[in-house]
Amino acid sequence: MLHYVSDDEKLTEHEPWNITTAAFDQLLNYLEAEGYHTVTFEDIERGNRYEKEIIITFDDCPKHLWDYAIPELQKRNMKAVFYLLGGHIGGYNYWNTESGLSRIDLMDAEQIAKLSEVGMEVGSHGYHHVMMEELNVEEATEQITKSKEKLEGIINKEILSIVYPYGSLPPKYNMLVPQAGYKYGLSVYTPWESKYAIRRWLYDNTDTLSTLKEKLSSNYGLYRSFADKWRIWKPALLRAMYKKYSKLKSAFK
Ligand SMILES: [Zn+2]
Repeated sequence: MLHYVSDDEKLTEHEPWNITTAAFDQLLNYLEAEGYHTVTFEDIERGNRYEKEIIITFDDCPKHLWDYAIPELQKRNMKAVFYLLGGHIGGYNYWNTESGLSRIDLMDAEQIAKLSEVGMEVGSHGYHHVMMEELNVEEATEQITKSKEKLEGIINKEILSIVYPYGSLPPKYNMLVPQAGYKYGLSVYTPWESKYAIRRWLYDNTDTLSTLKEKLSSNYGLYRSFADKWRIWKPALLRAMYKKYSKLKSAFK
């Protein structure tokens, strides 16, 4: 999971979402050296599979990806999937600026069409950058269908996958997302993985060759299947332990 790739000093406040071009190079160099194929969901649908494969994803999709990241991928014959907000085409990162961070311009319709023309895949990031778990079924349906229609109108091609903003799963996602016509849904941390709640990992400026190797290992997948559950269980367990401790404490008074 990637977002912004820029050496602009003003973007350092967007870390870990912004990575330097050097960090981006480190990632691509490693994948190339290890013989990874960068695939898209279209490849998976068509059965174009490889022993070593990876899906590189970009959320939000600023205009500046055309300055370095995309040309660099093209140079190396690599592909990625780009997730855009249907309601903010040619807009900006309003959800960041609302919390005091600097403005970053997002791709316009022409740039989105170009992504598809050069062989990159376009995906939906919903209509607005909202926490989908806070929506009811009708509202969530609107977010996921409106963005798909809007983007398909621009690229003249079927949108296969959606990335939920903040990795926040919409209600009844295992039903709503395929109903809207998507084949895949991507989250970040998810206790129970499914085609519509695919786990992802963040690559940022702090990653080294050894953390990268670790994150690409099957052990890491196993670790995440436990760690993501623990993220949900931890508060509940701590509450239960605290209750028990308080009872014990009062019993010995
Ligand atoms: Zn986002």
